[in-house]
Amino acid sequence: MDGLQLRGGVVRYGSTTAVAGVDLRVRRGEVVALLGPSGCGKSSLLRAVAGLEPLAAGELTWDGADMTGVPVHRRGFGLMFQDGQLFPHRDVAGNVVYGLQMAGMPRAAQRERVAELLDLVGLADYATRPITALSGGEQQRVALARALAPRPRLLLLDEPLSALDRALREHLATELHDILRAAGTTALYVTHDHDEAFTVADRVALMRTGQIVQTGTPAELWAHPVDAEAARFLGYWVVQEAGRTLAISPHALTVAPLVEDDGAGHIDPDSHLLQGTVVSVGFARGRTTARVAIPGWGEQTATADGATCLDAGSPVRVQVEPRGVVEL
Ligand code: ADP
Repeated sequence: MDGLQLRGGVVRYGSTTAVAGVDLRVRRGEVVALLGPSGCGKSSLLRAVAGLEPLAAGELTWDGADMTGVPVHRRGFGLMFQDGQLFPHRDVAGNVVYGLQMAGMPRAAQRERVAELLDLVGLADYATRPITALSGGEQQRVALARALAPRPRLLLLDEPLSALDRALREHLATELHDILRAAGTTALYVTHDHDEAFTVADRVALMRTGQIVQTGTPAELWAHPVDAEAARFLGYWVVQEAGRTLAISPHALTVAPLVEDDGAGHIDPDSHLLQGTVVSVGFARGRTTARVAIPGWGEQTATADGATCLDAGSPVRVQVEPRGVVEL
């Protein structure tokens, strides 16, 4: 068995069970995301893998060798947190070189490796900058370079982008994906953000109350959420229709003004046409959106066709894109 293997992992804090018997594999070269709502046990699981929390039960191996009793610094794993925890009194290169100095690497090799890493994270010209002169996103790139420098056999990342604003997070998630692949890194990535998990990871393990409820590639999870709660967590809108549970993708709905010919009686879910009423109108990312109330289904946001004029209170027809609907 190559890479990381956890079987029946349990983490407890007194009487609280944070991780309740989890099986997890991370193969060499693979990036696996632990995705789930706050408090579901992601960090506890990651910390147990790092050796920062003891396993109350279970078996943890790397390449088949038992890791349970191995102290944190002997596991050969790297760590990166939400707050990069950089050394403020060292410059950028001084931070990246830290682990290499600790490992006793010769100076010339240190310099070469630092340059390589700064190049990899897009900060080639930043070597002598003070940490305090960097933006939040730049600081996290330095933290990533520092964590990658000693070539950890497994990189553990705990919400590394959570402190950044949404736009930067989206941008850096894509970069992280590319950097981890370019470095051939094996990684376990904790996040509560499904978009981030789907962007960064090869496989996603969906957690809920201390357990992994589903594991798969982003495409597999999106195509077949294991249940309604999983679907909702991934961003689907879940509705009941004629005894069926339907998960509807947030991008599957478009609205257009209701025209006489449609006649409410002809509008039904099997034809993927519904009737609704506009609650409010907004504008996001260059597109007009409408919050629509659909009888029996509740309220949801839909995209408006092109130059459609919509007013609050007006009746509309709602087109449901069939490919955006999953029956659970
Ligand atoms: P997540 O990372 O998914 O937000 P955590 O692993 O941080 O979840 O927490 C899982 C559960 O364990 C929560 O109920 C949390 O309150 C509890 N917990 C986490 N750390 C501690 C701690 N040091 N002492 C006591 N309870 C903790």
